[in-house]
Amino acid sequence: MATKVSGIPDFQATALDIIPALASNARQTFRTNKTKSLKWRLTQLRKLYWALEDMKPQLLAALAADLRKSDYEAVLSEVDWLKNDCLHMISNLEEFAKDEKLGAPHVPPTFSLMGFRLKKEPLGTVLIIGPYNYPIQLLLAPLVGAIAAGCTAVLKPSELTPVSAMVVKELVESRLDPNAFAVVNGAIPETGALLNEKWDKIFFTGSAQVGTIVAKKAAETLTPVCLELGGRNPAFVTKNANLALAARRLLWGKVSNAGQVCMSQNYVMVDRDVVPTFIEFLKVAYKDMFPQGAKASPDMSRIVNRRHFQRIKKMLDETKGKIVMGGAMDESELFIEPTAVLVDSVDDAMMAEESFGPIFAIYPYVSLDQAINIANSVHRTPLALFTFGSKAESTRILNEMTSGGATINDSYFHGSVNTVPFGGVGDSGWGSYRGKASFDCFTHFRTVAETPGWADGLIKVRYMPYNWKELKF
Ligand code: NAD
Repeated sequence: MATKVSGIPDFQATALDIIPALASNARQTFRTNKTKSLKWRLTQLRKLYWALEDMKPQLLAALAADLRKSDYEAVLSEVDWLKNDCLHMISNLEEFAKDEKLGAPHVPPTFSLMGFRLKKEPLGTVLIIGPYNYPIQLLLAPLVGAIAAGCTAVLKPSELTPVSAMVVKELVESRLDPNAFAVVNGAIPETGALLNEKWDKIFFTGSAQVGTIVAKKAAETLTPVCLELGGRNPAFVTKNANLALAARRLLWGKVSNAGQVCMSQNYVMVDRDVVPTFIEFLKVAYKDMFPQGAKASPDMSRIVNRRHFQRIKKMLDETKGKIVMGGAMDESELFIEPTAVLVDSVDDAMMAEESFGPIFAIYPYVSLDQAINIANSVHRTPLALFTFGSKAESTRILNEMTSGGATINDSYFHGSVNTVPFGGVGDSGWGSYRGKASFDCFTHFRTVAETPGWADGLIKVRYMPYNWKELKF
């Protein structure tokens, strides 16, 4: 999708031979211990905040060029999102970073005088690899956590959003401590070179396929990883749901960022008795959101590139289901209309893989038992799950299925607030971040005990020669 934007240099991959030096520089800076000072961390967070504010025009222009993202969405879900992340971290850092005294129930009364505490230590030098769909937010939000924890970092933006990648590089390298933070641009060779370096943690957001490559490589050096992956997310609409509300909220989940959202629904299990009404409400919601049609709307983003356009188109070409809303496409503009497809098999092309676009399946179910069984067979550990129905039905679905996060009565609200923990489970991801969880993600919780000299009398049972009489059971 990208086009040239004046004032932003053309995309240039980082030279492979300087990558080891960039990693080594970040490691050496960490070893100076300067990043452990809260004052230094707060300064970097403030600098990041102001860089986002000052460079907002370039960031918005880049997102428009790469994804035709509207300024409205770009402000809400990328630039101001990150500014709020910085402010939240700045306000809470002292609290997050202070030692935690360990008393009951962690420490039994006998040892309560031994001064047990958890000391929060930065993990060290970390690698952050980002995807293309929120190319600024999903790269810099983990960085907020890394800075707050006192880590140094190297960042690798997605090459599929090249204009954003160049702006992020300039933002990080011109506004933050250049000895502590660097950006490597490029694709597989550059990421491969980065993965050959030793890191103290790798934070990866992207597909399960590449997540597996990253995790395997990290395992060779016992490097911990946080993986934020995708999945086929189900929504459930029962006959007790407010159908108009469910339709409007679920449609929003599929049109924001043109459905290129890891946590949006892939398919909706709908009670077969209410399927026709649900479809009618979807059409009403579509008309309300896009009175002139989605293609003419400045609010509808485009698919990132031809490869992904063709991938989504193939799902629509191969489905045996019936298109009940949308269906239009224009490759010259990388436009895909918000599209709902009525399917009757889990083997349908619409169900077989993550759509990561503005298309989703509607699967009519006969009983909630059947719906839950089908959803569990499609993906046992999706990233997200949504329920619309009675309280008892929602509780039942949540009990009988797992997911990284879940929202009752809405699309992905659990992932729309930047201070609550967010992450996958099983093969939709390992670990979580955002808010305090971001600080924790890059922190080692070091248990420290302090044994006063006078306590020797209390612990003398441990010394040889052992004397059974001193052990009182
Ligand atoms: P991707 O896995 O193709 O790419 C992610 C990153 O990995 C990019 O920086 C890319 O350059 C790099 N990469 C690609 N191939 C590589 C290889 N062979 N070796 C090493 N590095 C490689 O993901 P994407 O297409 O950018 O993003 C879409 C996927 O990400 C979807 O599956 C989506 O669900 C997922 N996602 C998850 C979250 C989350 O928070 N859980 C958020 C956004 C996207």
